[in-house]
Amino acid sequence: MIKTAQSYKQTDLTDQKFDLIVIGSGISGMGVAAIMAKEGQKVLMLERHYTIGGYTHVFKRPGYEWDVGIHYLGMMKDPKRFEYQLWHYITDGAMQWEPMPKCYDKIIIDGKQYDFLAGPEAFTQQMKQYFPDPKDQESIDQYMVLLKKASQENRLYYAERMLPSFWSRIFGNMMKKGFRPFAERKTIDVLKEITDNPTLIAVLTGQYGNYGEPPAKSSFGMHCTVVNHYMHGACFPVGGCRQIADSVCKVITGNGGQVLSNAEVIEIVVKNNKAIGVRMADDKVFYAKKIVSSAGTYNTFTRLLPGQLQLKHAVQEKMKGLKRSTSYMCLHIGLADTTSNLKLNKSNYWIYKGTDHDQSVANYVSNPRKANFPVVYISFPSSKDPTWEERYPGKSTIEIITMAPYKLFAEWEGERWRKRGDDYNALKEEFSQRLLEELYVVEPQLKGKIDFYELSTPLSTRHFMNYESGEMYGLSPTPERFAHKFVRVQTPIKNLFLTGQDLICAGVLGALSSSVFTTSVLLKRNGQSMIEKRVRKELNLTDD
Ligand SMILES: Cc1cc2nc3c(=O)[nH]c(=O)nc-3n(C[C@H](O)[C@H](O)[C@H](O)COP(=O)(O)OP(=O)(O)OC[C@H]3O[C@@H](n4cnc5c(N)ncnc54)[C@H](O)[C@@H]3O)c2cc1C
Repeated sequence: MIKTAQSYKQTDLTDQKFDLIVIGSGISGMGVAAIMAKEGQKVLMLERHYTIGGYTHVFKRPGYEWDVGIHYLGMMKDPKRFEYQLWHYITDGAMQWEPMPKCYDKIIIDGKQYDFLAGPEAFTQQMKQYFPDPKDQESIDQYMVLLKKASQENRLYYAERMLPSFWSRIFGNMMKKGFRPFAERKTIDVLKEITDNPTLIAVLTGQYGNYGEPPAKSSFGMHCTVVNHYMHGACFPVGGCRQIADSVCKVITGNGGQVLSNAEVIEIVVKNNKAIGVRMADDKVFYAKKIVSSAGTYNTFTRLLPGQLQLKHAVQEKMKGLKRSTSYMCLHIGLADTTSNLKLNKSNYWIYKGTDHDQSVANYVSNPRKANFPVVYISFPSSKDPTWEERYPGKSTIEIITMAPYKLFAEWEGERWRKRGDDYNALKEEFSQRLLEELYVVEPQLKGKIDFYELSTPLSTRHFMNYESGEMYGLSPTPERFAHKFVRVQTPIKNLFLTGQDLICAGVLGALSSSVFTTSVLLKRNGQSMIEKRVRKELNLTDD
């Protein structure tokens, strides 16, 4: 049997020299490690958490298991699409995907439900049923045209991140031209050009929680990228999200790589402006020819890079205009009955009060204990995984997510996990009860059926995921972030490279795609066409 991850504490590899060290084991780090290990590189992936997978990891309590950062992915069933081929490549075909129902998201605004249906035609028809006014119908058509154009233009824009700064100055504008009117404008500004109906805007942006910023803050390019990702339907990993880390790590270690958990990097070791290794929390050093960080822009540049190099490269100055994304809380719920007895949905709910998402966020941020939640997202993971009943007979799970201003929990940031005291626990309980009330409005049959619940807060994210303000999606997806030039595969330090959700965009696929960009730069070849060719050959795919 192939060994996957090992604990840092039980392994000593300091006598070895590596071709590549990957900091962090999120999907982007795992993607880089798997692709490079398959190229015969000696890879070491270091993860600070006790478990591998970054936001794709799962956690358990007696009798239950929950996902942390995956509730659904864009449809993964078409082997001719690169998304499918990429997953196939990094897992050696081990992942299987269960389609969600045709209606994958239910947007509920002031009690009225709007279903998001798979497929652009079905989606358009459904929206037109909700908005029969000819003016709105025309706006919906215009919106669909914009989404299509965005999907055609975004690739070159994102690919520009692979260029070194010098070449970016020469070719950057040309590559970014097509998608710039999407990426570098606010969602609300574009939508207001096509409609003045606030309900239509609220419905079309009803998945904004997938990127974390409401329409007056988010980049329209980010909005389009996420909406297009789910437009052909959604799916869920068969066997649960744990399958992801298990299967990618098998590929890494099966190709001679090493994967260590409990392995916190505290510094990138740099000599003559060249990254040569990483220093661990216990002061041990691992050396490698190249280092890739998937630990996020803030961690990489403001924590792991030695102070004098931060000054030398004017990191603070260059990061101006970037912001951390929103923080969140999640109520993980366990029920001691089957999903069918409990009549649990497979579709997700996005619940709103009022049509002005920006105003709702502002009200909540200024008074989170009194104002309505700006968005409540409810997912039923046990009903999405066809193997759940076999793995956890007679049990079901639910996850409820909403925003959580970090400042509300900041006073406990110095306290240890599970030792934050009664006031912290009371605050958690207050929010848990509020979130349960939201659940009972849409699923009243669940009242009295809850067996277990536990709320994670921004401090949980800070503690386990190392996002300092508990941020959900790395960098905030604002137009300024997309216009920004600093975050790119190649850093100002030779042999230090970036990967991860900050490079392209948030979302598991956004982060995984970044690993193809990063490995393309490392290998000096087009990673996408390399993977495409190999998978097409392996699966005997023809061009038609
Ligand atoms: C609640 C929630 C729900 C989500 N739902 C979905 C969804 O349904 N679908 C979807 O597509 N996306 C979803 N996302 C987004 C998606 O999970 C992320 O965009 C993506 O997984 C990020 O991957 P990554 O590799 O960039 O980073 P991460 O997964 O954040 O991985 C970074 C890793 O680096 C490690 N690290 C940090 N510092 C160090 C250090 N010093 N030393 C060693 N290791 C370190 C961290 O512990 C972490 O494991 C969700 C996110 C959240 C938070």
